[in-house]
Parts: sequence; structure tokens; C-alpha cells
Amino acid sequence: MTNSHHLGHLNVLVSGASVAGPALALNLARRGARVTVVEKAPTLREGGFAVDFRGHVHRRVLTAMGIWDEVHARQTHMGRQSVVDADGHARVDLPSEMMSGDVEIFRGELAKIMYERTKDRVEYVFDDSIATLTETAHGVDVTFERGAPGRFDLVVGADGLHSNTRRLVFGDESRYLRFLDYYVAGFGIPNDLGLNRTGRLYTEPGRAIALGNYDGDPGHAGALLVFRSERLTYDRRDVAAQKRILAERFAGMGWETPNVLKALEQADDLYFDAIAQIHVDRLAKGRVVLLGDAGYGATMGGMGTGAAIVAAYVLAGELALAGGDHRTAFAEYETRIRDFAKGCQKISGNAGPFFAPPTERRIRSRDRMYRLLSSRLLAGFFKRLTEKAATNIELRDYPELPES
Ligand SMILES: Cc1cc2nc3c(=O)[nH]c(=O)nc-3n(C[C@H](O)[C@H](O)[C@H](O)COP(=O)(O)OP(=O)(O)OC[C@H]3O[C@@H](n4cnc5c(N)ncnc54)[C@H](O)[C@@H]3O)c2cc1C
Repeated sequence: MTNSHHLGHLNVLVSGASVAGPALALNLARRGARVTVVEKAPTLREGGFAVDFRGHVHRRVLTAMGIWDEVHARQTHMGRQSVVDADGHARVDLPSEMMSGDVEIFRGELAKIMYERTKDRVEYVFDDSIATLTETAHGVDVTFERGAPGRFDLVVGADGLHSNTRRLVFGDESRYLRFLDYYVAGFGIPNDLGLNRTGRLYTEPGRAIALGNYDGDPGHAGALLVFRSERLTYDRRDVAAQKRILAERFAGMGWETPNVLKALEQADDLYFDAIAQIHVDRLAKGRVVLLGDAGYGATMGGMGTGAAIVAAYVLAGELALAGGDHRTAFAEYETRIRDFAKGCQKISGNAGPFFAPPTERRIRSRDRMYRLLSSRLLAGFFKRLTEKAATNIELRDYPELPES
């Protein structure tokens, strides 16, 4: 690597330590930049379901980042997933290509891999959040909810669908969040069905419950609840209120629902959000740039993690090529990532009706479609569709990342 690509003079603040944040931190720190990551949660957040990687672009990026082998080693091995009726009998098996890519890993595990690789070189500040951002000719002056203020050359909003950075710099979330008529919840439950790397999906009109065991741990399974709804008003920090909403919406549903709702009462890892997408006009404003779900997120599409990892690689690579000049780098990042990210979002748009079609008739036609897609004739269809979106980007040859 030539010196002009070294980013030793850059001091970067990243908001969010999930996938996009640590991925960028890894790419930047290995090029010499000083990176601080501020995360509002008190520790690195565990949990989340499996996320997947597919196609040669993801592989190339993970390899360049030096984490492909570890991701591979820690992958889940998910087997058959079936749509069941109220008695638990399988009606149709889901095409495996639809549910998982080439490599599937828990979101929390992935975050941990990148955190472990960077924690000695990157300053992680937990339990804090950016309060104000003021751009000057020399940088961005930042104040925090708790910590001491600082000045940074660049600020990256990698703080997810409900990005704080986006709100502070680009304006209120309502301008950018497109609600897609569904909500989703996920939490851990006892594995009463004895699932072993398999999953079951039960659907009634407008609501669905998926139970799955991804890791072979005999005692533990994950529950995913999806329901169709008008826009709800609730406090995002009030977990008890979210549990009440779920209990109401799933009351009277068949199959394992009573047990799932009982487990929900005890759950301490509830993830609850609207199924929505983020659409912004531009990803950068001055020295501030959006990365991952903050800029082009989609709840639950299965493509957000891959998109975030690729985008982090591209953003850091463009900064290296531009010798740290953010104007050039951000413009290139925006041009190179936009269509790719939009394509990944598009695949995600159908997540709600995919799990919980609104009527009996639509449930039946969904299941007929699955049956068709599971057939040998069309087996590769989903793989091709999702892989096309995941590989729809031409990566430049960025200066190589030095080995860690
Ligand atoms: C707990 C959790 C569980 C998830 N489960 C799944 C799943 O099962 N399946 C799936 O496909 N996707 C899941 N996702 C989303 C998935 O991680 C993203 O779609 C994708 O990986 C892109 O990640 P991201 O880093 O851009 O955003 P996210 O993963 O949403 O991460 C944003 C991070 O920013 C932090 N943050 C938020 N506000 C602030 C603030 N004010 N200051 C500092 N930090 C802040 C959040 O705590 C979080 O760590 C989950 C995300 C989280 C946080």
C-alpha cells in the first residue's frame, strides 16, 4: 500500500456498533485511520436471527476483510423449513435458497467477530449517543449524551433503520421511513417442539409465527412473529407495551401460539419493529455520511447485512483511493452503492406478505407458489434472483488491506 492510501491523518466517528459500524471500523482501522465507534446499547448487542451472505461479491469482501474463514467456521447449518397447518403437519417445504444463502450466521456472532478484530485499535464507547453535530471548516464538532465533546474529520451514521445521525443531519425519520403495513417481532423461546436445525411456519390471514432452531442447541429456539397492521403508536423503549401489542394481535391464533405467547411474557431479548424501508435522496451531507440500514435499510429482507458489509468496504476503499478527501470519496461511494443497495431493498419489499398473506386465498396461492419453487424445475430460481441483487455491483480494485 502506498502512503497516499494510508488514512493515518483521518479521525472518524462512527455511530452504531452492529454490522455496518464495526465493518467500517475494520476497513478504516487497517488503513491507519483513527476510529471511534459510539453505541447507545450498554454492550455489543447480542441476538438477532441468522443473516446470510450469498454470491461472489460478499465472499470477496469478507475475504478482503480477513473474516471469511471465521464467518464460515461459525455459520449455522439450517435444514428444512416447512409451512405447517394448525395440527403441525407439513403442508409444503420452503425452498432453502429462499431462507438462507451460501453462508448463514447469527447477526450477533458476526458483530462479535468484527468487534473482536478491531477492539484493540478502535475506541468503542458504549452506552452513549451523539447529541449534536456542528460542521465547521475544519471538521465536525460533536457533543455526546454522556461523554466529553470532540472534533472529528468525518462522521458516519451506521445506527440502523431509526438512525440518530440521519435525524440530526438529514431531518425527521418520517421523511425517509416507508412503512410496509406489517410488524415483526423476534425472541428466544424454549425448544418445546424439539426442532433440530429445522423451522416451522404457521400462518393465518395477516399473521404468522415461525419457530426455528438454527444452532442445534436442543433447549433453545427462536420465534419470529409477523402481523399485518395499520401504523401503530407506541414507545420504542417500552418493551412491556410491545409485548401487550403482540399478545393482543396473536390472541386466538392456533398451533403453538398459546405456548409462544407464554414464552413471550418471559422473553428478555424482544426485537420489535415495523417492516419498513429507508429511502433518502442522498447519502452524504458535508462530512457526514450514512452507511447500512441508516441509508438504505429494509427490515427483515435478508439482504441488509450483505449490503452493509459491501458498502462499508466500498466507503473505506473510496476514502483510501481519494487519500482521505471526503468530497471525492463520498460522491464515489454514493454513485457506486446506490443501485446496488436499491436492488437489495427491492428483494426485501415482500417480507410481510411472504410470511403472512392477508387472506386465506392468498395463503393458499403463496403455498402453491412455494410448492412450485421447491420443485426441481424451479429450484435455482430464488438463488438466481437473490444472487443477482447481491452481486449487482462492480467492485473497484481498492488498495489492499494490510493483514491484521
Ligand atoms: C438487536 C438486532 C437484531 C436484529 N435482528 C435481525 C434479524 O434477525 N434478521 C435480519 O435480517 N436483520 C436483523 N437486524 C438488522 C440487521 O442487523 C441489519 O439489517 C443489517 O445488518 C445492517 O446493519 P446496520 O449495522 O446498518 O444496522 P443495525 O443492525 O440496525 O444496527 C444499528 C446499531 O446502531 C445502534 N444505535 C441505534 N441508535 C443509536 C444511537 N442513537 N447512538 C449510537 N448507536 C445507536 C443500535 O443499537 C445498533 O447496534 C437486527 C438488528 C439489531 C440491532
